[in-house]
Amino acid sequence: MKLRTNKRGTSRTFLWPPLHPLWLRICLLALTIALANSFACTNGTAADATNASAATKSETPAAPPAPPEATVPNGDPLPQIDAKRAFQYTREVTAFGPRYIGSENHKKLENYITSHLKGDQVEDDAFTADTVEGKFPVRNILAKYPGTKDGIIVILGHYDTNYPLRNTGFVGANDGGTSTAVLLEYAHHLRGKKRDGYSVWLVWTDGEEAVKTWSAADSLYGTRHLAEKWDKDGTLKKIKALMVMDMIGDADLNIDRNTYGTPWLMDLIYSAAEIGGYQSHFYAREGGIEDDHLPFLKLGVPCADVIDLDYGYNNVFHHTPQDTMDKLSPKSLEIVGNTTLETIRLLDRR
Ligand SMILES: [Zn+2]
Repeated sequence: MKLRTNKRGTSRTFLWPPLHPLWLRICLLALTIALANSFACTNGTAADATNASAATKSETPAAPPAPPEATVPNGDPLPQIDAKRAFQYTREVTAFGPRYIGSENHKKLENYITSHLKGDQVEDDAFTADTVEGKFPVRNILAKYPGTKDGIIVILGHYDTNYPLRNTGFVGANDGGTSTAVLLEYAHHLRGKKRDGYSVWLVWTDGEEAVKTWSAADSLYGTRHLAEKWDKDGTLKKIKALMVMDMIGDADLNIDRNTYGTPWLMDLIYSAAEIGGYQSHFYAREGGIEDDHLPFLKLGVPCADVIDLDYGYNNVFHHTPQDTMDKLSPKSLEIVGNTTLETIRLLDRR
């Protein structure tokens, strides 16, 4: 996609120093020390003086965040995706060219995705979408990885490219390419033995893009269909968290805090980013962004959209033929990939 409702989001607010939280904290600290000292002076005991100095020490700044190779608090190594492989997937997906709904390249990509999921539990959610540009086949591709805990974590990423841009040379390396690729990479980390945690379902969503002009009726074809289906069959109630991956490969990575989302889940993602030392790439901007999670969010599912909607200065590469591989970095896939795998682990422990 996607549509940002307030164009630049509510960017960080600069606070006049005396109102800044850090400044207030310093003032509070000074007051604490003053009170402690005055108490010490009144009573004149060494113990009180020691307490005052201990109070000062306890207020020293926290240690710097752990480096990427750090281990999580219980000693487990931080999950690591293979960023080179994920980047290679992005390259291969992008090389198909425009992959808009109804196109030959779209079919080739469907086969490419399923060929990478051999042996996995793969399902389709396929239907015909009736749009202002006519009828199109739409196919969400699901891969399910069972876990020991009762409940499901869902990761979505769209694989279609923008239909209105089909004749412009738009290949969607970031918008469509990275989301397809990072989910293929996650599959490597989920398959094999039964997960010691929630079941994880990966969904390559289709028809995310508008066929003409973005609106509630012209967008999110695949996920609107899937959310309705999961509402009817009771799946929605089992979903503990749903995360969307979209436009995550920009070399200058700045993940938005999309306020169309569930605060505790966004905070959990931030905590996971902190464990990896990646937090400087998260939430410098915030604002409401419409994306594949909306149909589920509206039905009460805890959701977060992991998206960087500032692709090039002022988002200039978004939905243009300049959305190409040279703007992307494997490091960005690594940051989002490792953070997402760590978020899954934090969710398993909740
Ligand atoms: Zn798009």
